[in-house]
Amino acid sequence: MIRHDVVILGGGAAGLMCAIEAGKRGRRVLVVERSEKVGKKILISGGGRCNFTNLRVTPENFLSANPHFCKSALARYSQADFIALVERHGIAYHEKELGQLFCDQSAKLIVKMLVDECRTTGVRIETDCAVSAAERNTGGFSLQSNRGEIRATSLVVATGGLSVPKMGATAFGYELARQFGHSIEPTRAGLVPLTFGPDDLVRYRDLSGVSLPVLIHCKRQSFANAMLFTHRGISGPAVLQISSYWSPGDELSINFLPLTDPSEWLKARQSSRPESELKTVLGEFLPKRLAQRLCDIDLGSRLLRQYATRELVAVCERLQAWPMNPAGTEGYRTAEVTVGGVSTDELSSSTMESKKVPGLYFIGEVVDVTGHLGGFNFQWAWSSGWAAGQVA
Ligand SMILES: Cc1cc2nc3c(=O)[nH]c(=O)nc-3n(C[C@H](O)[C@H](O)[C@H](O)COP(=O)(O)OP(=O)(O)OC[C@H]3O[C@@H](n4cnc5c(N)ncnc54)[C@H](O)[C@@H]3O)c2cc1C
Repeated sequence: MIRHDVVILGGGAAGLMCAIEAGKRGRRVLVVERSEKVGKKILISGGGRCNFTNLRVTPENFLSANPHFCKSALARYSQADFIALVERHGIAYHEKELGQLFCDQSAKLIVKMLVDECRTTGVRIETDCAVSAAERNTGGFSLQSNRGEIRATSLVVATGGLSVPKMGATAFGYELARQFGHSIEPTRAGLVPLTFGPDDLVRYRDLSGVSLPVLIHCKRQSFANAMLFTHRGISGPAVLQISSYWSPGDELSINFLPLTDPSEWLKARQSSRPESELKTVLGEFLPKRLAQRLCDIDLGSRLLRQYATRELVAVCERLQAWPMNPAGTEGYRTAEVTVGGVSTDELSSSTMESKKVPGLYFIGEVVDVTGHLGGFNFQWAWSSGWAAGQVA
């Protein structure tokens, strides 16, 4: 039997940050990780370079049933704090686009930084250690693991979401939350490619590989970024972003020409090249294969001189609000995050402690706080882990 002040379930981004902070306070901390090594998602993140935070983090970059919940933790441990830690460890980084910060070299450096900090603060890490049950008893918690019983005064659940099961994702954190009387906001795959139904598959499948900047809308959300047609549906940053807001049955509206005023240039082309076909002219502004396909599916294509002004305006309006009805998502296999999770109603927003069970904490992705694409999910892991680490 091993006894600790704090046991952290899950050696991912949130768990390691919490461990470091609790360790700094002189707490005897144990991180329990079921995989053979810690930080596996950090290693694969950002194409191996880890988009570890964003220069512009705001509460609007997060989805949650309670949009105010994330504010306190994000303000107390901000992107500037994490950047300062990265700089103290001499890790070179760069901004890619839209404030997204990536390592110049490798995500391995972020994991090394966290493990080095754990070592300095006396944190113990047990890998290949799977916890299968937990209960509360006098003075704390008792956990059953493949290494025997583990006891602790505080229990921090940092088991992550359901995305990418082959990286070690489990539903254990949610089960534990339910066991201790917490409610779960329904979970679904987020930051995930969307798939076509049979009709759209026939319409769009051979556009696979076509990519372009779009402005994509769903309900009241919109994102401007690249979109990519795949052999099964649509992907690319704009689609991944909107997928977190999409539910089955929702229609997407896609502006294929977000950077230009199409009615002006179409009218200009009509006077300079009246004998050109619509699809040829659209091919100047859109990938040619896409222009051709949109004309085949819906727009038609005649010589420009044959269009009345109002018809050209209608073509433009169609291109700026192209409807698409995905049939589903690629699911947790390829999703970057899980939307939903442990309800924030029963957690303290400043410490992440359960309002129902003193000494029990939930941090990181297992909580119903989900970031946009661009380093926001890691920032939530750092901020929520830091907040719990101050008190656990
Ligand atoms: C392919 C991919 C790329 C991504 N890229 C980025 C990016 O560039 N930027 C960004 O901000 N976000 C990115 N994300 C999202 C980000 O990785 C997660 O939001 C973040 O890792 C969540 O941190 P966490 O500590 O809460 O959970 P995790 O990092 O998932 O860690 C949870 C840990 O708990 C362990 N565990 C689970 N159950 C148990 C158990 N019963 N006992 C013991 N241990 C257990 C798991 O093995 C895992 O190591 C990416 C995600 C994926 C899948």
